[in-house]
Amino acid sequence: MTRFDYVRPSTVAEAVGLLEAHGDDALAIAGGTATVLLLQKRMLRPELVVDLGGLPGLTGVEQNGGGLRIGALTPIRAIERDAIVRGTHHLLAEAASQVAGVRVRNAATVGGSVCFGEPQTDLPPALLAMNATATIAGSQGSRDVPLEEFFLGPYETAREQGEVLTHLSVPTPVPGSGGCHVKFTMGSPENKPVANVSALVTVDASTRALADVRIVMGAVGGVPMLAHKANDTLKGERPSDALIAQAAVRASEEADPVEDLRGSVWYKRRIIKVLVERALRCAIERAN
Ligand SMILES: Cc1cc2nc3c(=O)[nH]c(=O)nc-3n(C[C@H](O)[C@H](O)[C@H](O)COP(=O)(O)OP(=O)(O)OC[C@H]3O[C@@H](n4cnc5c(N)ncnc54)[C@H](O)[C@@H]3O)c2cc1C
Repeated sequence: MTRFDYVRPSTVAEAVGLLEAHGDDALAIAGGTATVLLLQKRMLRPELVVDLGGLPGLTGVEQNGGGLRIGALTPIRAIERDAIVRGTHHLLAEAASQVAGVRVRNAATVGGSVCFGEPQTDLPPALLAMNATATIAGSQGSRDVPLEEFFLGPYETAREQGEVLTHLSVPTPVPGSGGCHVKFTMGSPENKPVANVSALVTVDASTRALADVRIVMGAVGGVPMLAHKANDTLKGERPSDALIAQAAVRASEEADPVEDLRGSVWYKRRIIKVLVERALRCAIERAN
């Protein structure tokens, strides 16, 4: 590990000021589960580490208008266990419960998971399926960025160097909705995903047709990907085995995996097809 200065600001404005002033020489840190490893390996060599952990008002889950406001510093373990999240935003709690092991989930924060921009993650696909918005504070004030526009590429997000993610807003799914997160890993289920799928569907109570479908594929592209063609295949239709299979094929065609230690492109497309089918069946059953 290289030597660096360490500060623990007590306000968001102070944190933003420090990050802006030091530019690329500064590194924000929250739970530290991703960054400390990179510091140890000297893959990151900041002059200043800005520990966000002491910032007030950035931890916890609150009901806010038509959804939840989730503080960026909220540990992933708290999302998994929160009674409100488990009730109204079950998909998020389910995805949180599949991140790493309990020790990592206790330290890792929701904001860290989103800001790191790593393709192999579980929470960002679920947040995207639920149509979440990120609120980021900078020197010019706060701005809201829908997650659809937040992830730009591997380890690249819409967050600028001087900005701090303060919270995420996650709308409450309408009645008749059901969600499901499924993940495939190599070895232990605590490993990062080979691929995963978060699906949120809404079933019309009178026609039984799918009024809305949001399938998001994770780890099979540089960013979590909405499976637009698969979603369009299903929207407005009554789900059947044939239709679900057709949507799964479309999703696997839309996926953009790369070959790595977790498998070949061909293998990941096969996996994603199976996961889309599983996630859809599970989400539809929950919606019903
Ligand atoms: C052993 C292991 C297994 C794992 N398995 C999984 C898995 O199965 N699924 C999965 O999804 N993830 C997995 N992860 C990744 C884990 O989820 C991330 O390491 C974690 O979410 C990062 O959160 P953190 O708070 O520790 O972030 P940090 O390490 O503190 O920060 C990560 C990045 O985000 C930035 N950042 C953090 N918070 C903010 C903020 N509020 N505003 C602006 N920038 C910010 C930092 O500058 C840094 O660039 C695993 C990690 C480990 C170590």
